[in-house]
Amino acid sequence: KPEQRLSKVLAATGVASRRNSEELIFEGKVTVNGSVCKAPQTRVDPARDVIYVNGNRLPKKQPPKVYFALNKPKGYICSSGDVESKSVLCLFDEYLKSWGKKYPGPPKPRLFTVGRLDVATTGLIIVTNDGDCAQRLSHPSSNLTKEYIAAIDGIVTKRHLFAISEGTVIEGIHCTPDSVELLPRQTDISRPRLRIVVHDGRKHEVRELVKSAGLEIHSLKRVRIGGFRLPSDLG
Ligand code: URA
Repeated sequence: KPEQRLSKVLAATGVASRRNSEELIFEGKVTVNGSVCKAPQTRVDPARDVIYVNGNRLPKKQPPKVYFALNKPKGYICSSGDVESKSVLCLFDEYLKSWGKKYPGPPKPRLFTVGRLDVATTGLIIVTNDGDCAQRLSHPSSNLTKEYIAAIDGIVTKRHLFAISEGTVIEGIHCTPDSVELLPRQTDISRPRLRIVVHDGRKHEVRELVKSAGLEIHSLKRVRIGGFRLPSDLG
């Protein structure tokens, strides 16, 4: 449909998040065809209507939606707020530099991670400029299953597996994994590895589950989100 809510058009072109777009509109920073428009629900067609935000013309065409499956390295965080730590979004700086050549005119896309991985966790994370998609997929109601491989310091017994499968309380909610299994040893000296599948997406869920069973995680990697699996040569 060519006509969309003004706030949605602003968010889709990457000027601001959906909420910030509404604020810009309420504050009178947005004009449509020469008049200030303070109603975010106004229907506009960016190809036909002339829209200015803070005095800058909004491009007629919305930039395309991009989706990346990233193999997150250790030591990167998944939000952009903390200046102390490197964000995974920095890994896209080079890509974003070339964006302007491909899609002239402001602005560059704002990228989001779909959900988060801890700074020490590695593996699959989706990065996109599609804020709606990011929000939908990261919400617990999406029911997406996520599969993790946890390397464990120490010995894993049947009792540990049972304890993990019983779940634990996180942020006041009892969380149980969809499944937990001990993987065959790769070599005699390698650490025991657990495959744990969860779907709630609570903070530190896998680490909390393992800790509650009295085990210590050596490293944690996400290998699958829903139907997307990290290629095995990256695992
Ligand atoms: N569970 C965790 O404990 N850490 C992650 O990074 C993801 C899920």
